[in-house]
Amino acid sequence: MSYDLGASGAFTLTIGGRSVAGESTFGVVNPATGRVVAAAPDCTREQLDEAVAAARAAFPAWAALDIAERRRHLVSMADAVDAHTQDLATLIVLEQGKPRPVAVAEVAGLAMWLRRTAELEWEETVNQDDGERLSVTRRLPLGVVAAITPWNYPVGQASFKLGPALLAGNTVVLKPSAFTPLANLRLGEVWRDLLPAGVVNVVTGSGDLGSWVTGHPGFDKISFTGSTRTGRAVMANAAQRLARVTLELGGNDAAIVLPDVEVSEVAPQLFWAAFANSGQICLAAKRLYIHEDVYDDLARELVRLAEQVRVGDPSESEVDLGPVSNQRQYESVVSLLSDCRDHGYRFLTGGLPETGTAGLFVAPTLVDNPPDSSRIVREEQFGPVLPLLKYREVDEVVRRANASEYALGASVWTGDPVVGLELAKRLEAGTVWVNEVMHLDPLVPFGGRRQSGIGVESGLAGLLEFTELQTLSVRRSRG
Ligand code: NDP
Repeated sequence: MSYDLGASGAFTLTIGGRSVAGESTFGVVNPATGRVVAAAPDCTREQLDEAVAAARAAFPAWAALDIAERRRHLVSMADAVDAHTQDLATLIVLEQGKPRPVAVAEVAGLAMWLRRTAELEWEETVNQDDGERLSVTRRLPLGVVAAITPWNYPVGQASFKLGPALLAGNTVVLKPSAFTPLANLRLGEVWRDLLPAGVVNVVTGSGDLGSWVTGHPGFDKISFTGSTRTGRAVMANAAQRLARVTLELGGNDAAIVLPDVEVSEVAPQLFWAAFANSGQICLAAKRLYIHEDVYDDLARELVRLAEQVRVGDPSESEVDLGPVSNQRQYESVVSLLSDCRDHGYRFLTGGLPETGTAGLFVAPTLVDNPPDSSRIVREEQFGPVLPLLKYREVDEVVRRANASEYALGASVWTGDPVVGLELAKRLEAGTVWVNEVMHLDPLVPFGGRRQSGIGVESGLAGLLEFTELQTLSVRRSRG
């Protein structure tokens, strides 16, 4: 199986409903081969100005549309995504490196998210309605939204922002990561003729486009997903003009395994909780705390699973895991592995990759009980490496799990869901799952506490972050 971008290989920006070529382009690299697969347009400052102006011009009419019309638009966007599933999945495989079935599921997820988001309802609040006064608080769209997304789920990340922002009545400029611009550029094309011009614009750039966006005076809201470090820069930039921000940032999620689990049953679930998408998921299990009674058995089972997994080029063969998605992330993962090696921590399986290969492959790696002070425990690995950590007491593991600057997600694994729920309440994270992980739903908000972010995405709460309140107060009595 190999992929060819063929005639559809020319990519352009979408600005004001038009196809706009970049004045220059940058190469998009397939992480499985190291080869450039396509040229993406490098948006200039002037083109960004045009995109913002187009979104601004489109805003009043879009905001004034009957909401039923906006719902219909979201559904037709979803239908168009479905019609282009294979093409979009191919681009994701090539630019991001994930296995094709995972890419197909990602595209299907975007369509599903748009459709389900279209069902969200919200109402005005009547504060007072009597002879003295009518007072009503309503929600208004903010205006022009910048949607900035990372490379791990190129279209999946867009789904958390586009549907809610548009349904609330905003217009959008979407800026995907320069590592993975292609599927998003294709989305711009696919939606160009469906939506009023300027409602969704797509811009890509290899240099400082992200900071141009967050520093641009034309945005009313920045909805950002990415690293905590960049999130801080985004917030500082947005503060100059008090643009609203939602920040979905890094995570270092603890998964706690109680001694009453059935090891053979939880092992595959835990394995994929950590290694799906080669560990490049914000809500992946990144620290696995295992009770000492089951540590050896579970470690053995995880090693067995890791050694069965097929790692390779998803364009060439059926694989379970592709490469790490880009050179920068690969170097970050290798740096953590080197630190483990230098400190003498034991790899139960995997370890440092061979040097000199073209693809950015790292075998799934399990680190045997490194200290809590180690980098692999403290830092977000965002790659196919998992520290297994032994514990004895529940109070001890709660303290250790909560001792992180991040607080995005967490999970508890137990034979007794009641016990699991009580333990879940003690964990400091935006979402805590019991006997599952990473379950997201368009109608359920998710977000991070502490350094994992500000605000939430999805659900009604996520949609309302794309609005602001206005109270209308009418005095009726003249007395
Ligand atoms: P980055 O923060 O490097 O990049 C995220 C996005 O921001 C990209 O589009 C990037 O563009 C852009 N960007 C880079 N610099 C700036 C800047 N100064 N101002 C504005 N935008 C900028 O993150 P990664 O792409 O490396 O993504 C991985 C991180 O994302 C991990 O920490 C992960 O945990 C987090 N994440 C969080 C999720 C959540 O929901 N909480 C979900 C998924 C990931 P470019 O790539 O072109 O530089």
